[in-house]
Amino acid sequence: MNRIRLLPEQVANQIAAGEVIERPASVVKELVENSLDAQARRITVEIQSGGKSLVRVTDDGLGMSRDDALLCLERHATSKIRSAEDLNCIRTMGFRGEALPSIASVSRFTLSTREREGEQIEGTQIIINGGKIIEVKAFGGTAGTSIEVRQLFFNLPARRKFLRADETESAHIQHYLTLCALGFPRVGFTFLKDGRMVWQLHPVQNQEPMQALKERMQALQGGNEKLLPVKESFDFSRDEDEEAGELKIWGLIGAPGVSRGSREDQHLFVNGRPIENRALNFALIEGYHTALMKGRYPVCCLFLELSPGEVDVNVHPAKREVKFRHERFVSNALGNAVKKALLAFHTVPVTQTPSAPAKVELFIKHSVEPTTPPPPLALRGEIEITPPAQLAFVPPPVEQPQERPAPLPTPQTPSRDEGPVPLLRVPLRILGVVGKLYVVMESDRGLVLLDQHAAHERVLYEQMLRRLEQNGDVPSQRLLLPETLELSPKDADFLNTQLTALSRLGVGLSEFGERTFILDSLPLFVKCPDARRFVVELIDELRAAGQAVNSMRLGENVVAKTVCRHAVKANDTLRPEEIEGLLHELRHCQMPYTCPHGRPTLIEMNFRDLEKKFGRTGMNPGV
Ligand code: ADP
Ligand code: MG
Repeated sequence: MNRIRLLPEQVANQIAAGEVIERPASVVKELVENSLDAQARRITVEIQSGGKSLVRVTDDGLGMSRDDALLCLERHATSKIRSAEDLNCIRTMGFRGEALPSIASVSRFTLSTREREGEQIEGTQIIINGGKIIEVKAFGGTAGTSIEVRQLFFNLPARRKFLRADETESAHIQHYLTLCALGFPRVGFTFLKDGRMVWQLHPVQNQEPMQALKERMQALQGGNEKLLPVKESFDFSRDEDEEAGELKIWGLIGAPGVSRGSREDQHLFVNGRPIENRALNFALIEGYHTALMKGRYPVCCLFLELSPGEVDVNVHPAKREVKFRHERFVSNALGNAVKKALLAFHTVPVTQTPSAPAKVELFIKHSVEPTTPPPPLALRGEIEITPPAQLAFVPPPVEQPQERPAPLPTPQTPSRDEGPVPLLRVPLRILGVVGKLYVVMESDRGLVLLDQHAAHERVLYEQMLRRLEQNGDVPSQRLLLPETLELSPKDADFLNTQLTALSRLGVGLSEFGERTFILDSLPLFVKCPDARRFVVELIDELRAAGQAVNSMRLGENVVAKTVCRHAVKANDTLRPEEIEGLLHELRHCQMPYTCPHGRPTLIEMNFRDLEKKFGRTGMNPGV
């Protein structure tokens, strides 16, 4: 008995809609992508009830002839590819010829279009109801295309039930439109929600892509956050593939310390298409390294441009995900581009020689006496810093702290430059310390707070890594009385894998029986009355980090990070010279604005912020 039959066209379209059209935002996405492919300069999106009752997308693009308008509603009808080979080099947003017939099969659909350039003066309007053509008539509107989608899923009640509250659906739409607006600054976008204007973004005239992006971001978000430019190119042919050409990465990323609790403000584009990709997400976090707190996400708008043959966009029904031919190369490149931009933020190339490296006292009051003569540099926890040869820093002049702080500069004088002039490049004057932890300072921009513990952790961390790079060990001090520790089998196993790294970092632990270890030295800066607790905590922290990076053998930098947590504790009182020293050291760090765990070391409140808080905005500052 034959049981197989071909499905009617209408059913096939509804099935396709099931994959491509998930919710009103998918309709918006498909329609806006079509407008972009049709070279629209202005696109207007109107929605009602979260797009459930209406989505209307109007553009001033190329428009369609009557024949094309009828054809575009057929499945697999597209003007964008011709052959299977074309799939290997897609330069348009669409290519499957599926969206319009799918959407028309699950809604009340009206297409009105008129060619921008063409012989036909008259336009065409087609009305479709749940996939059935109701009417085709002449249309007298302006050039371009307008598509109206009413009552999405009206004929599929089961699907309609799955739609969320209006607000949720419109949030999805707005998120997608934000991506488009960022990806296409030279296109104007108007967004209307339930008859109310949400935004009107004019086409950006600036031809320089980075400037255009900045302008668009400013128009969209107000742009009061510190963003750094990224601009790199990588040559595939060097490591990978002769044919593959070049990978360009450019855009803007949040400065160290700027982050979010979700990936919401992390925007990645591949050849103009907003995408999601796990490897790239990971590479971004890697690039930020210690400039990002655990569990936080970067803020960025980054564009990857590469030969279309290097990306497969045909791997996801909504084309949200892409696959790279050389994924490792691309993600490494992204990580490096980000890292470079973050490092460049603090580094200024100069001609003059950097000022003599200062010795830092690590202000430790040791609870134990060194028993062996300490190595020359290790006296009292000093580690000498030599700025790396290729990077020269200009530490800005620092005023000497005074007994009584001079009066604050009058609010008229500060520069209101909101550009990302790194804080550690402007002179800072120390005013005092609050809570034995926060150093209060002023700059000509306003108030600055320094978390002395976070700063100290950063300084130590970079010193340790530098030491390790130079194949030295971190200076340590012998304990008067070595401690014996007995651990659980699990802890003991784990500790065994970390012993080498720990001993290079000054934590002298050795195996002394199956689950017993002897602790005989600690790094100079570790101040702990209870050595045993220090080790147990260390194991716990390292294990937690190990779970996150999914490896038992941790990198020395992870171990160093953890060891640094036990540096000078928050409530050690520092003398003014010690604070100066710390600040000086911080200026010599490569990534001074965050502690190794990504927490900020400095917080700035500029005069504008202060005026806002005191309700002085718009007032004559002297009042
Ligand atoms: P695809 O975008 O994959 O080609 P669609 O079903 O989205 O498939 O669109 C089918 C065709 O209809 C497109 O290839 C294009 O030629 C035409 N089209 C759709 N929307 C527009 C528009 N806004 N302006 C001009 N032409 C359009
Ligand atoms: Mg399309």
